[in-house]
Amino acid sequence: MTRLLIAEDEPAILDALAYTLRGEGYEVETVEDGEAALEQALTDEFDLMILDLMLPRLSGTEILRRVRQQSALPVIVLTAKSTETDRVLGLEIGADDYVTKPFSMAEVVSRVRALLRRRELDLSGPSQRVRVGSLELDAYAHRVLVDGEPRDLTRSEFRLVTLLASQPDRAFSRRELMEHLWDSTYVGDQRACDIHISNLRRKLERDPARPERIVTVRGVGYKLTTV
Ligand code: CA
Repeated sequence: MTRLLIAEDEPAILDALAYTLRGEGYEVETVEDGEAALEQALTDEFDLMILDLMLPRLSGTEILRRVRQQSALPVIVLTAKSTETDRVLGLEIGADDYVTKPFSMAEVVSRVRALLRRRELDLSGPSQRVRVGSLELDAYAHRVLVDGEPRDLTRSEFRLVTLLASQPDRAFSRRELMEHLWDSTYVGDQRACDIHISNLRRKLERDPARPERIVTVRGVGYKLTTV
């Protein structure tokens, strides 16, 4: 049974989400404040978390930050439409996906399904090591090493760098990168791609301000070079 944790303090939204997702066959646990959300998220009993960023007692961003320090739990954040920064922040601190309020239940269900499927693919792939210069990827162990030193990547960052590393020196467009990330035709904001790339640079580059590994290809997108 796939277990979902939903953290949301607006009862109408919480009830609708829980009702819909139970109807889809998921086992659903709900929490309405930030402290309970963090406590539950760290129990290791859930396959995915839906997290409202605006929660009482402890904010969603703080919860996500703490969860990411010790867990790879897939997280979809719920953000308010007016706050672009929420969305940006959510991805920066390690959300795997986001849904903007107001949303349809069908949209949430499809995001949940897509994220669970991505996770399954990540976990079921054969052991596969790829080396590009001093960068080493282990798809099976979900590990990235730079000069033999492990780096901590989110699931989304790992997927992006894996695609880039599949064809070193080939320029990928933002659209290609985002379609790979979401596993579907991506119609959203391509700025999300730049956020992931800048996070990756911070983790993988010697000097993130002067990237040598993940290089911008003007008018196209990004490529991974052999350094
Ligand atoms: Ca809220």
